[in-house]
This record gives sequence, C-alpha cells and structure tokens, in this order.
Amino acid sequence: MNLIFLGAPGSGKGTQAARLAEKISVLHLSTGDLLREAVKDSTELGKKAKGYMEAGELVPDSIIIELIEEKQKSGVLGKGFILDGFPRTVPQAEALEAMFNQAGSKIDYAILLDVDDEEIIKRLSGRMYCSDCQEPYNYPINMPGQEGVCDKCGGRLVRRPDDEPEVIKNRLEVYREQTQPIEDYYRKQSLLVAIPGTGRPDEIFDRIVKKLGIN
Ligand code: AMP
Repeated sequence: MNLIFLGAPGSGKGTQAARLAEKISVLHLSTGDLLREAVKDSTELGKKAKGYMEAGELVPDSIIIELIEEKQKSGVLGKGFILDGFPRTVPQAEALEAMFNQAGSKIDYAILLDVDDEEIIKRLSGRMYCSDCQEPYNYPINMPGQEGVCDKCGGRLVRRPDDEPEVIKNRLEVYREQTQPIEDYYRKQSLLVAIPGTGRPDEIFDRIVKKLGIN
C-alpha cells in the first residue's frame, strides 16, 4: 500500500504514520526527519534547509523533490510506503504523481488528520524531546518524572526550534496557504480520507485502521 499523511504541523501525522507503517510493514518516510538529520550532520542538504526550517518556512520544492526522487530511484519505496510531510505543495504533489506514473505505481490514499488551530497551538507549545535520545514528551499529557529531564536516559529536554511560539504561528500560516490546497488536489482524485485528529492517539489510530479496512 502507498499512502500519504496530510495534516497541519502538530496534527499527529508523524505518530500515526509511524504506527501504521509498522502495522502494515511498509517504509515510513518523513521528510521533516530526513531534513533534521541532514541539519544535525551539517550535510549540503542540511546547510540549504536549516534557515527555512528555523523560520517555519518550507524548503524550496526543487530541493525536496530531488530528495524524494533519489529515494524512489534507490528502490526503497518499491515495497509500499507512508509519506509523512511530503507532498506539502501542489507542485510537489504533481511531481510525485508524475514520478509514480512513470514507474507504473500510484498513491492509494491520502489520509488527512483534521485538527483545529486552537488544539494545534496547544499541542505544539507542549511538545518537547530529549536532546540525547530524541524521546518525545507532550506537556501536560506525557510529562517526565523530573522537570526538563528525560525519563529514559537523563538527557536534557528541549523544544524543536520551529516549535517556538512565533514560529508556530508562521508554520500554521504556511500550512493554510501552501499545503492545504493539496487536500483539494487529492479530493478531486477521490483519494482523500479525512479522519478527525482529536482524542487519544489509540482512538485516532483505530479510526484510521477502520477507515482503511485494515484488521
Ligand atoms: P515536519 O517535521 O514535517 O513538521 O517538517 C519540519 C520542517 O521541515 C518544515 O517546517 C519545513 O521547513 C521542512 N519540510 C519538511 N517537509 C517538507 C516538504 N515536503 N517541503 C518543504 N519543506 C519541508
């Protein structure tokens, strides 16, 4: 199965995409994770992407499309995949469609996690992770035993630079302006599956699985 996860930053698509990929044994590919890794390792890609990411802007289409094309050419997408965070613009969606048409493959569904802005801001403001082992935390639902310290490894908890309040606002605007139009792109192709993204992660996962008819 070839799936795309859509949704505003903080809609829970990363969590749900990882869980679903494990359940149906396909590759989970998050462009945000790939870019963060590249920034951490100071690769050429990371150097190009860093400034955009820190400002909550999208990395230019040409850079990100090339990244996905490389993945496709390498063959890692051949046995099914869940794309998380790509496509994020209409040109990216068009490039993806062209890539898969050429390869005789297709997207089966685009899953949209629907969450309103108020909830998104609350979630992103409470999101922290361990600077050593990357374990995620969510205030106030999933807090560490000791304030600011990772339960798993004792590392220091930090906030993603793009989860700072002023950057969150920009990321939401960018989502509405540049990413939301791709909901229509997939709706017109009858590929869009909208799932209410509020509630406990388990409940949301059950909704996705039921809607896709997976047991
Ligand atoms: P995410 O973890 O998906 O929220 O992505 C973090 C940041 O990486 C975004 O705010 C963008 O700056 C960048 N990014 C990730 N995926 C894409 C994409 N498909 N197109 C452009 N920029 C992206």
